[in-house]
Amino acid sequence: MTNIFDTIIIGGGPAGVQAGIYLVRANKKVLLIHKSGIGSLAKANQIENFYGIFGASGKDVYLTGINQVKSLGASVFDEEVSSVSHDYENNLFEVSAGGKEFHSKSLILAMGKEQKTNSDFMINVNQGVSYCALCDGFFYKNKKVAVIGESEFAFAEFKHLLDVTDDVTLLLNAKAHNILPKYIRNNEESKIVEIKNGENRNVKVVFDDARSQEFDGVFIAEGSIGASAITKLLGLTKTNDGHIVVDEKMQTNINGVFACGDINGTPYQIAKAVSDGMKAGLSVINYLNK
Ligand SMILES: Cc1cc2nc3c(=O)[nH]c(=O)nc-3n(C[C@H](O)[C@H](O)[C@H](O)COP(=O)(O)OP(=O)(O)OC[C@H]3O[C@@H](n4cnc5c(N)ncnc54)[C@H](O)[C@@H]3O)c2cc1C
Repeated sequence: MTNIFDTIIIGGGPAGVQAGIYLVRANKKVLLIHKSGIGSLAKANQIENFYGIFGASGKDVYLTGINQVKSLGASVFDEEVSSVSHDYENNLFEVSAGGKEFHSKSLILAMGKEQKTNSDFMINVNQGVSYCALCDGFFYKNKKVAVIGESEFAFAEFKHLLDVTDDVTLLLNAKAHNILPKYIRNNEESKIVEIKNGENRNVKVVFDDARSQEFDGVFIAEGSIGASAITKLLGLTKTNDGHIVVDEKMQTNINGVFACGDINGTPYQIAKAVSDGMKAGLSVINYLNK
C-alpha cells in the first residue's frame, strides 16, 4: 500500500483546519477532505464574536482557513466522504471520497453538527428500515432491498449491499443527483410519500403517483454521511443526543480516532471548535510519535 497519510481529517471547518495547522507544522503528512457547501461556518453571514474577526462572512473565513492549511503543506481534497473503515490488521483507516480511497494511521472527525436528513416522507414501519448498509446489510442476504438517497453516500451504501444481494434498487426520491455509477442499474426517480409495513415483504414504499414497491429492507442514506453513520461504521460511542463521545484530549473510544468541534457537542461556536481542533491536533502528534 503506497501513499499512507499520518492523518486524514474529515472536515474543513474551524475544528478540522485548526487540527491540520498543528499537524502540518509538526511535519505530519496530512490529508484534509471537505465538501464545499456542507457545514456550518460557510453559512454564517457575519462573524463578530471570535477573536480577531470582526464582520467577515463565514464563507470568507472558511476559504481563508482552507487556503491557510493548504499553504502550510496539507493535501486538501474537495469531495464528499462516502465511507470510512478500519483495517485492524494493519491498524490503518480507509476513507472513500470522490471515487478514490485513502489510507491513514489516524483519523480526525471534524464534520460538524449532524445534518438533518430532508426526508419529506412518512416512515411508519415496524421493521426493515436501516441507516447503515455495512452494519445491517448482512441480514438481507439474497433479499430484495432498496437504498434511498442521491449522493456519494447513497451510492456507497448501494455498493456495500451488492456484496450480499443482487437485488438492490436506488430510490432517488425525485432529488437531483450526480451521474449514477455504472453498477446502479435499477433506480426509481419518483417521489416517495410513505414507507409503511408491507403485505408480502417487510416494507412498502409508496410513491406520489399511487404506485408502490415492496422490499425486505430499505436503507436510508439521504444527504452526506454524518456522525451517526460514521459512529456505526467505526464502532464509536455516542451520547443520547447524537454527539461522538471524546475525552479531554479529543480521543474517542477507538484508538487513533479523534473527534473535534460541533460533532462532539455544544456550544456550537467557532471558539470551541478551534480549541477542540487544537487539542485534537496536539493529541494526534503525540499518538503518531509514540
Ligand atoms: C447560520 C450560522 C451562523 C453562525 N454564526 C456563528 C457566529 O457568529 N459565531 C460563532 O462562533 N459560531 C457561529 N456559528 C456556529 C459555527 O459556525 C460552528 O460552531 C463551527 O463552524 C463548527 O465548526 P466545525 O469545524 O466543528 O464544523 P463545520 O463548520 O460545520 O464544518 C464541517 C466541515 O465538515 C465537512 N463535511 C461534513 N460532512 C462531510 C462529508 N461527508 N464529506 C466531506 N466533508 C464533510 C464540511 O464540508 C465542513 O468542511 C454559526 C452557525 C450557523 C449555521
